[in-house]
Amino acid sequence: MTELLLRDARIWGREGSADLLIRDGRIAELREPGQGGAGGGDVEDLGGKLVLPGFVDGHAHLDKTLWGGPWVPHDAAPGLMGKIRNGQERRPEFGIPNADYVTALLENMIVCGTTHVRSHVDVDPLVGLGSVEAVRTAVERHGGRISVELVAFPQAGMLISPGTEALMEEALRAGVESIGGLDPAGVDRDPVRHLDIVFALAERYGVGVDIHLHDGGTLGAWQFELIIERTRVLGLSGKVTISHGFALGDADPATRDRLIAGLAEAGVALASVAPSRGVLPLRLLREAGIPMTLGNDGVRDLWSPFGTGDMLERALFQAKGTGPRDEDVELALDAATYGGARALALRDYGLAVGDHADLVVVDARNAAEAVCVRPRRSLVVKSGRIVAREGDLVR
Ligand SMILES: [Zn+2]
Repeated sequence: MTELLLRDARIWGREGSADLLIRDGRIAELREPGQGGAGGGDVEDLGGKLVLPGFVDGHAHLDKTLWGGPWVPHDAAPGLMGKIRNGQERRPEFGIPNADYVTALLENMIVCGTTHVRSHVDVDPLVGLGSVEAVRTAVERHGGRISVELVAFPQAGMLISPGTEALMEEALRAGVESIGGLDPAGVDRDPVRHLDIVFALAERYGVGVDIHLHDGGTLGAWQFELIIERTRVLGLSGKVTISHGFALGDADPATRDRLIAGLAEAGVALASVAPSRGVLPLRLLREAGIPMTLGNDGVRDLWSPFGTGDMLERALFQAKGTGPRDEDVELALDAATYGGARALALRDYGLAVGDHADLVVVDARNAAEAVCVRPRRSLVVKSGRIVAREGDLVR
């Protein structure tokens, strides 16, 4: 039995301060401050600091990163296809995917308080399952400091890139948790066939679906409907995510309301990287009961030099689109925590007794201040074990 007592903690969503006792990886007790010791376990005095649940990064591309490697000036051609080609063609030049870079990025995510990541990993005839292997190697090296689930992602298209479909199936046979898709119309030019293949594989292997949908306007809205329809018919409620979904962010009110009703009824979640355009209507989604997860997307890679992997930074980007009131900012933080857990169907997530002890401690008076100031993370706990302290990994 291992115990860790966090004394004098202020817990997000709860009045006053409390002592939080962790036992065998779960939150065992929340009690009035100063009542009894840890029974011989470790004790940390938080001095009234704020405790948040561990951040969930629901949309990452760990395999693409150059973190910890050379600085590569951005020179991709504009537009989605320009970035896709640049990313594919220049991978060998920098040895991407590279387990060392992925390990370094994961370290930064851990010290910034992320405890779970969903990463899309490129699957195509050039890289095969190399990205799956690189990310798994990096996760293994961190020995349980962070948990990572994968999506087999056809970054170069599926129908237009022969051999990709077979590799995606191979990835699922190798235990990858979800199957991805990419602009079934805009990239693959045949949305019905693309989605039929993706959903058939999901059904055959009992895995989740997470589809990148950048297509906007009526083309994007139509693909929302195709995904909603397949989710409902196949009974995949709670197992399907649409990533980006710019068509919903940009839709006129009538289309937006129709799509939101369809998503809610079918049980489809959304993932956003808090872009500067096509911001998803977080408050309306919340009211409709649709989970939305936030993610960092690619961090310092051949697609863009931006990003750090910090989910508080991503929550700040979302808050700038959601609004400046404390409740708006908290809504953004909710997407970086509870919303992600709901979208990814993580069990026993949160700050209640019985939940997994995945949490972050920050020196902030409340959640809104934590997002706006983004203080250094004082403590990061994964499965009851302290994995980072004051911005450094605990080795
Ligand atoms: Zn993405």
